[in-house]
Amino acid sequence: MRLRNVAGSREAISESRFVIQDPKERKNHWRELFGNPNPIHIEIGMGKGRFIMDMARLHPEINYIGIEKYSSVLIRGIQKMEAENLPNLFFIRMDAEEIAEVFGREEISKIYLNFSDPWPKDRHAKRRLPSREFLNRYQEILSKEGNLEFKTDNQALFTFALEELKAADWHLDQMTEDLHHNADMMEGNIMTEYEERFSSMGNPIYKYIISQNK
Ligand code: SAM
Repeated sequence: MRLRNVAGSREAISESRFVIQDPKERKNHWRELFGNPNPIHIEIGMGKGRFIMDMARLHPEINYIGIEKYSSVLIRGIQKMEAENLPNLFFIRMDAEEIAEVFGREEISKIYLNFSDPWPKDRHAKRRLPSREFLNRYQEILSKEGNLEFKTDNQALFTFALEELKAADWHLDQMTEDLHHNADMMEGNIMTEYEERFSSMGNPIYKYIISQNK
């Protein structure tokens, strides 16, 4: 969803009070930012932020951090936060490759990956957010009781994601190949922007929930 050349987006992000400018400095101290001991949930690749803003509004007892690589996309989330300031939500503009430099061991209780970019070429497999390389990074920051939820409409990416679990020593807790017709897993589902778009086209939505083998 890269929107090119949104004029002034980099500058607006560097000045925004909703964006953490020095995320590596906050490693192991994220709770101080929120001023409470509540669990921290993150969405990696939040896009324009609809999902994480809905979650933050619904769950004031959870702290949320949305991570997005591109300024031109993140700026949309910031504009929405200017209109509705949610005290339990902040954003970081960064590449998720650096995630273990930003969060400490077990600092995060839940990770959301929603409609991650598929990177269809084999040589780009390491860039896929549910790849073993990324799963190893997530293991460094996720609490032992924590879990990761992944949704996509891309069958090939979902098949790849399932195969990666064995290599990275994760446990598959729940999965569906048609989320919107699975009453159990649909309970409390919050739609993302991409989910609304693809499900309205009739695409089934794949989802898994995984945790670390203990
Ligand atoms: N999660 C949103 C949704 O479901 O509507 C957006 C999905 S969009 C297809 C994927 C988003 O992930 C894009 O905004 C992209 O810039 C971001 N992204 C991809 N790779 C990333 C990475 N390595 N680190 C941070 N964000 C990333």
